[in-house]
Order: sequence, then C-alpha cells, then structure tokens
Amino acid sequence: MARSKGIVIEDDFKGYPVDSFCIANSLKHDIDHVLIPGGLVDDRIERLACDIANDYSREPFSVLCVLKGGHQFFNSLLTKIRQYYRYSSFAAAANGKAKIADEDECNHHIHEEFIRIKSYEDDASSGKVQILGIENLDSLRGKNVLIVEDIIDTGKTMSQLMQTLQDYELKCCRVAALFLKRNPVNEFIPDYVGFEIPDKFIIGCSLDYNEYFRGLNHVCVISEHAKRKYST
Ligand code: 5GP
Repeated sequence: MARSKGIVIEDDFKGYPVDSFCIANSLKHDIDHVLIPGGLVDDRIERLACDIANDYSREPFSVLCVLKGGHQFFNSLLTKIRQYYRYSSFAAAANGKAKIADEDECNHHIHEEFIRIKSYEDDASSGKVQILGIENLDSLRGKNVLIVEDIIDTGKTMSQLMQTLQDYELKCCRVAALFLKRNPVNEFIPDYVGFEIPDKFIIGCSLDYNEYFRGLNHVCVISEHAKRKYST
C-alpha cells in the first residue's frame, strides 16, 4: 500500500469566485473563495474508494466514522467501496470466476461504527479533544479498522484517537482523511488523503464553523466577515 499526499492544492492557488457556482446569495459574503468544487471532491473520493477496496482485498474490515464533519465523506466513500465490490464481483461472475455478490454480502463485509469528536472553537483547536461514544466500541476489538475523518490540521485529534484505540488491540488501523492541511506542527500523516490543502479554514461538504455551513456543497475558504459574524 503506497501512501499518497492526494491532490496537492498549492498555497498560491486563488480558487474560484463564488459567482462561478450555484451558491445561495445569503452565503456570498461568508465565503472568500471556492477552494474545491463539490464534483471534484466526489471524483477524488471515488479513487480513494478504489484504493481502499483494493488494499483490503475483500478482507473484512470495520469503518469508524468521526462525526460530525466526517459523515458526508464516510457516506460517499462507503457507497463507492460497496459499488466497487459489487461491480468487480459481477464482472468476475460474468467471466465465470465467482458468484455474484448480493447487497447483503456487501453490507455484511463492512461493519460501521460512529464516534463524535470535538476539539475546535471558532477556527482554532481548543487544545482539548473530547471523544464521545468511545465506550461503545467493543465491536472493534481485534478487527481491521479504517478511521474516516474529514480533516487533519495539527494532528492532535487523530493522535489522541489512535492512542485511545490502543486499548482495543486492533488487528490493523488505517486512517482516511479527505483533507490534510499543510500545518508545520502536524506529524500525523494519514494512510489515505483526498487533498493536501493550504493552511486556511475551510467550510462546506460537512465541515462547519461553529455548526454553520455544513450543508454548503463546495469546499470553500471562510471569509473574515463570517468568522466575526458566527464567532462564539
Ligand atoms: P486537528 O486536531 O488535526 O488540529 O484538527 C482536526 C479537527 O479540527 C477536524 O476533525 C475538524 O473538526 C477541525 N478542523 C481542523 N481544520 C479545520 C478546517 O479548516 N475547517 C473545519 N471546518 N474544521 C477544521
């Protein structure tokens, strides 16, 4: 399994003007620019799904979704991984090599778990990583686990989660992050990365600023105006 930095978005990339996309008028002053259009996010997740499906080669694994920000990535990734398994099994069957996998077989193959982690206030890490739901993860004991997280910035959240999961003696634990910020203090590098991005605060595609903007369908850099308006 070769690690990839994902699609690298350079620091001097200016992004796209808000007017280039269908974005509600009420949000226009809250966005500095569109960094990654939603369609590109989706296409990149498709490739991550193929890489993950290949790496696990039908070995059973559990996927641990880190809420709230990771849920859109998690849904899209799992849908595509299951699609990949269905198609490859169907193609093999068509060539007389295997029986066609049905939906149940695919559902059985990937076990889903959820936890919630909170560590940010406004646009900065509070320094405290609160993990909710960790007490219900006995089903992961001794399993292959893939953690699905929205974004890694300082790496503190993921380092703390990995440390906590050591109690569960996992067979193997890998991390998929949709975004990896170029933060000089971060030492946590995930196994699968969607995009490596500049050190800016992003919103949209489930990523929030104090619970606002999760529903925005493109990944955008928040404006200074919105930071002040929605600050705690
Ligand atoms: P870390 O512990 O790596 O500094 O931060 C990870 C968590 O901080 C993420 O799960 C996410 O909740 C939040 N976070 C870090 N950077 C950003 C960002 O640019 N936008 C948003 N919306 N959340 C971020």
